[in-house]
Amino acid sequence: MTENAAQIASTTFFPLILAGAFVLIVAGFGVFFMSTAGLRANARVSQLVRDLADARTKLLEAQEIGRFGTFMWNFDDPSKSFWSDETFKLFGLVPRPKPPAFESVMSTVHEKDRPAATQKWKQIMTTPGDFATTFRTVAASGQTRYLELRGKTTVDVNHILRHIQGVVHDITREKEIDKAKSEFVSLASHQLKTPLTSIRWLSESLLGPKSESLSEAQKKYVSDIHEASRRMAEMVNDLLNVSRIELGTLAVRVEEFDATELLKAVVSEQQHAATLKQIALKLICPEGLPHLQADKSQVRMVMQNLISNAIKYTPDGGSVEAELSLTGGRREVLFFRVSDTGIGIPKGERDKMFQKLFRAGNAQESVPDGTGLGLYVVKSVLEHAGGGITFDTKEGKGTTFYASIPLVWQMPNVEVV
Ligand code: ADP
Repeated sequence: MTENAAQIASTTFFPLILAGAFVLIVAGFGVFFMSTAGLRANARVSQLVRDLADARTKLLEAQEIGRFGTFMWNFDDPSKSFWSDETFKLFGLVPRPKPPAFESVMSTVHEKDRPAATQKWKQIMTTPGDFATTFRTVAASGQTRYLELRGKTTVDVNHILRHIQGVVHDITREKEIDKAKSEFVSLASHQLKTPLTSIRWLSESLLGPKSESLSEAQKKYVSDIHEASRRMAEMVNDLLNVSRIELGTLAVRVEEFDATELLKAVVSEQQHAATLKQIALKLICPEGLPHLQADKSQVRMVMQNLISNAIKYTPDGGSVEAELSLTGGRREVLFFRVSDTGIGIPKGERDKMFQKLFRAGNAQESVPDGTGLGLYVVKSVLEHAGGGITFDTKEGKGTTFYASIPLVWQMPNVEVV
């Protein structure tokens, strides 16, 4: 019986014990491997968190060095909106986890730029697509900074606004360099004016009664010198005007004058250039136009530029017409039209016409020297006065410019931001 019991025990329990031990060993290994995998995963997550924090620090440092900040506005959940530390600092605000209220941001914007900045932000908040805008901020210390905001307003497939993402960039340095450049151009142009006036005056007096003592060849040389100095004086004037516009120093002196008289004077000055090219120069002015209360030298410059361009870009034998009128419903505005039968403006180049230094391909071919500054100055002057300029053109057939000149100019000074 005892022998039997021992036999049963060895045949029944021993395999069970072995199986139990085996299960325990496998489970032990399982637990061991699982816990080391868990440890490894934990270590990996910690590493990723450290990498992320490191990348964030580097990004913030880069933003600080580059003087740019980033921001994001979430339409679905404004609490998820975000401003980087540098964005706060650029606006002169203390960095916080959440973006500041609109009013706090606006209180940092320069008083004069506030209405335009508010308007622009409203447009950005409602219009999908890319945007860019510039404005000034004033820090508590009184220091003014120029900021440029660039970004994109995005919508989803159902055209519902999702978010605004953008970059704020401190462009104060660029503005200062630009200002220094304009000041240099202004100074250089100013210095050039005096010797140029002497050359013009002396060559003009040589061409007067004194010219009898000159040979034909000498007369021709003096006449060429006179013409070249006249063109140079025009270019210097254009440069001076551009730098004044950019520096915000183009002073506006309002006085009352008769626009018809002024136009007659400008036309008679241009008559010589028109006669040389056998161009018929016609003037249309209705009786009794009201006087302007405007800057006479600026209105003269607008008239001069448009008429001299019309003559310049019209081939010999063509015609140019200059008209003043009060038509078009806006009685407070004087319309100035200049039409020519000239080279016209090529289709692909029309949208660049008022850009600084732009000259169309056909103009460069027919009149090699020109600055491409005249129309830019004309447009700036008219727009600052509350007027404007447009044109109609047909390549090879002619161009008509329409300038609207307010009858009463109000601003005491021009300021360009
Ligand atoms: P510029 O005449 O010195 O080139 P503007 O600024 O006065 O500079 O004019 C810019 C450009 O506009 C000219 O180069 C020319 O391409 C075009 N343009 C201006 N007026 C006319 C015109 N009446 N007919 C054709 N092209 C014109």
